Amino acid sequence: MQIVRTPGSARAISRTLKRPVGFVPTMGALHAGHLALVARAREENASVVASIFVNPLQFGPGEDFEKYPRAFARDVELLEAHGVDLLYAPGVERMYPADFASAVSVGPLGDRFEGARRPGHFAGVATIVAKLLHAIEPSSLYLGQKDVQQTAVLRAMVRDLDMATNIVVAPTVREPSGLALSSRNVYLSSAQRQAAPSLYRALQAVADAVERGESCTERALAVGRPLLEAPLAWDYLALVDPVTFVQSETIERPAVVIGVAFAGATRLLDNVPVPTPAGIDPILTPARPRAHPAGPRGSR
Ligand code: AMP
Repeated sequence: MQIVRTPGSARAISRTLKRPVGFVPTMGALHAGHLALVARAREENASVVASIFVNPLQFGPGEDFEKYPRAFARDVELLEAHGVDLLYAPGVERMYPADFASAVSVGPLGDRFEGARRPGHFAGVATIVAKLLHAIEPSSLYLGQKDVQQTAVLRAMVRDLDMATNIVVAPTVREPSGLALSSRNVYLSSAQRQAAPSLYRALQAVADAVERGESCTERALAVGRPLLEAPLAWDYLALVDPVTFVQSETIERPAVVIGVAFAGATRLLDNVPVPTPAGIDPILTPARPRAHPAGPRGSR
């Protein structure tokens, strides 16, 4: 695995890789959720590029940018073991020099739910992903369903700005308890960790109510709201359109149940998609059959 630190060297080496190229952007502190994205990219492409960059632009004042977990040496080993060809790990100064001034504007979708709680977050995400895409020029961008509003923002950006990348969204990887894996789970106390799986149970209960035919948003949400266990507390629980993230009084399918619970200062984020009555999932990209078994790592 080659490691590069600048956009110029990332682009130069990425252009030498056998195509198609799958790209997995991360903030490091890798867990099995990230590695599932790498494995999916490995299956579906001749080459795989990953990036590690803790992006200051997507953290608000008072958020955890400084204390965000960092484990670079271990991450390098994991990516190497999972068959990544190229790791792009730029430094903050190179990405955002003092006179850095341009940004991607993401529109009203970026102001709802996560965007309302974290002003500027999605513009920060879109801006860094645009920079990474320009450096790597991948065939496909691999994203986790876990950050479902982020997937909607990036789908809109790629469509609106005519970016030449395909987006693949892969399922959320969970602990056996149902808790979605997250680099921030290390912040949880033992009481918070014990209660944490109740977030997923609550979201599932709402999705089940809709699947059973509930058509009133408030009644569906009322099924899930009481299921969150102390010491967790709701930030929000909502049932929204998977493209616009607008919530209506009456449920239209497909939809996605989104929720964030406070665990002290930590926010636990999760979602459960509600498929169309015909069973089409609104978020996930169906797995592509092994199209590139002859790639350089095809025998893995
Ligand atoms: P992050 O390092 O948190 O920026 O995440 C990098 C990528 O991994 C994003 O596309 C996330 O949605 C994805 N991801 C994070 N947690 C999970 C998970 N538990 N399951 C699947 N994908 C995940």
